[in-house]
Amino acid sequence: MLDDLYREIILDHYRSPRNRGKLEHPDVQVRGNNPVCGDEVVLDLNVADGTIAEVAYAGNGCSISQASASIMTQSLRGRSLDEALELVQQMEAMMKGGSAPEAEGLEDLEALEGVRKFPARVKCALLGWETLKESIQKYRLEHKA
Ligand code: ZN
Repeated sequence: MLDDLYREIILDHYRSPRNRGKLEHPDVQVRGNNPVCGDEVVLDLNVADGTIAEVAYAGNGCSISQASASIMTQSLRGRSLDEALELVQQMEAMMKGGSAPEAEGLEDLEALEGVRKFPARVKCALLGWETLKESIQKYRLEHKA
């Protein structure tokens, strides 16, 4: 469904996910589900001074959901919560036809552009990102940040 180079990038993240695991004492942890495909992503964040200090994710599901979450985690450390939310918006826009967010660590995201031609898979690609959005909202509620 996607061309070979992009498929390689996605499979590489699927087989060797970045930042895979759990944080010992996460400030916030959210479990995201995509029941349509059976995908799951559990995102752990540590936040210091409004900035994401540590990130880890666990989960299982299709290669698109896991690769997208893996790519996302490459770009979160050192970002403010607002910047992270902005990336979520850009990712959502990309799935509606916009261009991929241009940010350090997100170069591989281009590989997921083709997914938007397959509406059933868009939820897979967005799962990690929607989980990130929920994590930030939860963190802000709990910490009044
Ligand atoms: Zn999926």
